[in-house]
Amino acid sequence: MVAPLKVGIAGLGTVGAEVVRQIEQQSRLLAARTGRAVRVVAVTARSKAKKRDLNLQDVIWAKSPLALANDPSIDCFVELMGGSGEPALSAVEAALRNGKSVVTANKALLARHGVRLAKLAEEHGGALNFEAAVGAAIPAIKTLREGLAGTEIHRVYGILNGTCNYILTRMEQEGLSFAECLKDAQRLGYAEADPSFDVDGHDTAQKLAILASLAFGTKVAQSAVYVEGISSIKPEDLRAAEELGYRVKLLGVAVRTKTGIEQRVHPTMVPRSSSIAQVMGVTNALTIDGEGVPPITLVGPGAGGAATASAVVSDIADVARGLHIAPFGRPVKRLRKTEKAPMMRHEGGYYIRLMARDLPGTAATIAKRLAQQNISIESIVQRHPNGAPEPPQGRGKRNAKAASTLVPVILITYATSEDGVRQALAAVQNDKVITGRPQVIRIEKN
Ligand code: NAP
Repeated sequence: MVAPLKVGIAGLGTVGAEVVRQIEQQSRLLAARTGRAVRVVAVTARSKAKKRDLNLQDVIWAKSPLALANDPSIDCFVELMGGSGEPALSAVEAALRNGKSVVTANKALLARHGVRLAKLAEEHGGALNFEAAVGAAIPAIKTLREGLAGTEIHRVYGILNGTCNYILTRMEQEGLSFAECLKDAQRLGYAEADPSFDVDGHDTAQKLAILASLAFGTKVAQSAVYVEGISSIKPEDLRAAEELGYRVKLLGVAVRTKTGIEQRVHPTMVPRSSSIAQVMGVTNALTIDGEGVPPITLVGPGAGGAATASAVVSDIADVARGLHIAPFGRPVKRLRKTEKAPMMRHEGGYYIRLMARDLPGTAATIAKRLAQQNISIESIVQRHPNGAPEPPQGRGKRNAKAASTLVPVILITYATSEDGVRQALAAVQNDKVITGRPQVIRIEKN
């Protein structure tokens, strides 16, 4: 008879409480699948007195996360407190040093200290599992690390933040502003009181850094991720995207290029027909392009207690089975330093929206500046000031007053370089034929 796997859980919040429930409710299933009973024997959180609606009668309350990590009676330490600092970091380090296996959903900890923690796991013989850290219930980590272990990966990209996708979906479907949709997301509990970590793209960047390491066998390097958020997106961009056959998503993209590995998070136009474009609301998705394999897209809930706990419990089941896989898919000494591709060398199509002065010569000036950077235009839409496309007879009927009017001009470029686009737009701004900052959204082809 194999001894039960004794689990200690630090953190009993949205995810931790649900992990305790799922282990209890699925005890027979887990024993049948792993060949071993899985038992929560000790827990800890900030407040012992808090009402939690959990059956913790036969469970020890450890006096701190570190005490739990050092408790010789547990085999597997589950960290569900969050944060890249204390107490999560010291507790996870201690558990690994003690030769225990660690399961965590903490993307911040892994993005910052992942390689060091993987090394500790390797040195002391424990597993370090973190399926829930990216895409919650979507098996993103296992797919890259195990399912595609024999496949060379060219690109991974995805919608990795439900808050942003919810906001962009509402903006598109209801023509609402970013601020209105953010307020609704906060009311519904999809966004934090301080939403900047999500809407500025940093949450996506942490997850992308982990995925890039798994995809390309490089050390996790959050600082190598270029990040832009969604707060500058306007309903008119989403309307234009629709007319041009695109949809706007906040994507995290990691791709191997001639100049190194690009890791970037930014609002992105994706073809409306693509799998990723169909993903609406708080749902997450990940597409993986591998050598000789048609693109694989995984779609599912990227957050929520039950969804996240299901991934945590699956990691605990792997520990019960005795599975030991290198956390980032290869031994730490075989992880290469990330060769960061400079963002200025990024090449792709661009959507550009300008507020142009309705004066003779404006179009010619813009065209000249783009041509100087060898930027070719795939399509151009000039709109009436009220937003409708300009009718063919419009130009001839202008009166003198219209000369000072601002006209939105929307351009779609063929593949060109980031550097060229920035230089061309800086020159156009200098020429004073536009007002305000140009809106620039990169296009990602499938
Ligand atoms: P949460 O609801 O805020 O719960 C955090 C838990 O940690 C609470 O039980 C809290 O104790 C405990 N805790 C915090 N600081 C502590 C300390 N200094 N000492 C002891 N315990 C401490 O967080 P969560 O949403 O469950 O998230 C947990 C982890 O899962 C995070 O890494 C998060 O990024 C990740 N994750 C969450 C989701 C999601 O949908 N929620 C999805 C994917 C990944 P009290 O209960 O006493 O306050």
